[in-house]
Amino acid sequence: MDLGIAGRRALVCAASKGLGKACAMALAREGVELVILARTPGPLEQAAEEIRRATGAKVATVAADISTDAGRAAALAAIPDPDILVNNAGGPPPGDFRSWSREDWIRAIDANMLAPILLIRSVVDGMVERRFGRIVNITSSAVKMPIPNLGLSNGARAGLTGFVGGLARQVAHANVTVNNLLPGPFATDRLKDNFRFQAQKSGTSFEQEWQRRQSENPARRFGEPDEFGALCAFVCGARSGYITGQNLLIDGGAYPGTM
Ligand code: NAP
Repeated sequence: MDLGIAGRRALVCAASKGLGKACAMALAREGVELVILARTPGPLEQAAEEIRRATGAKVATVAADISTDAGRAAALAAIPDPDILVNNAGGPPPGDFRSWSREDWIRAIDANMLAPILLIRSVVDGMVERRFGRIVNITSSAVKMPIPNLGLSNGARAGLTGFVGGLARQVAHANVTVNNLLPGPFATDRLKDNFRFQAQKSGTSFEQEWQRRQSENPARRFGEPDEFGALCAFVCGARSGYITGQNLLIDGGAYPGTM
């Protein structure tokens, strides 16, 4: 299926590994020109080279922290007028809410709520003028089904989700869509970190947690990042202009509700 976005230009945040990188790879396969961003230069360059080799796409890199003003300025200097924006950042640490300070909350809100909102503010009017824009926010299945020890994530992402719900309806008339993708468990470093925390807390081992969580999922496995990338590319496709303001779960059926 040709998604009709060859030649479009995308900024993909937090994309040196995991889900962000998978989104970048899937967009590059569609002929999209990329700027990818992460904080650590080495793995970022490696990811860019891997994507170039696999797809032949043009890929530039920005080593920056997207949760900071300086990081966002560096990203926008590299690509001030993207057709596609994929918002992503590392998730906040797990823990007990009793131990989180105001600063911990501000860090989570900066990375997982305000960074995407401020980037959207910088690019959305240009998308409206050009009559094309695709904005995808990587959030979490925790938006629909909060995860008890990930309170910082549950809270910050709920704020972003509410904002996006209103914004999407303001820009849909100009073929600009804003959607959230909600990953369930995907086999990435983030998931491994969470399971290490869980194993420590419950006195089990990492391997036990890994097996248990796989067997609990209706698909009896974790998601593969390239499955997530494929959904991202589809939502960014030219024919996806009527899908907006949605919270799209991709979790192997783990969320038990009908809506
Ligand atoms: P991951 O494998 O740990 O990758 C995170 C990526 O983000 C890396 O490229 C990292 O590179 C970059 N990054 C982190 N903080 C950043 C920042 N402040 N500025 C710029 N780049 C940053 O994580 P993932 O599993 O792909 O998760 C992506 C997002 O989805 C996270 O918010 C996570 O909480 C959420 N999520 C994941 C799952 C899952 O099962 N994997 C489930 C639900 C939600 P640097 O460290 O070099 O910056």
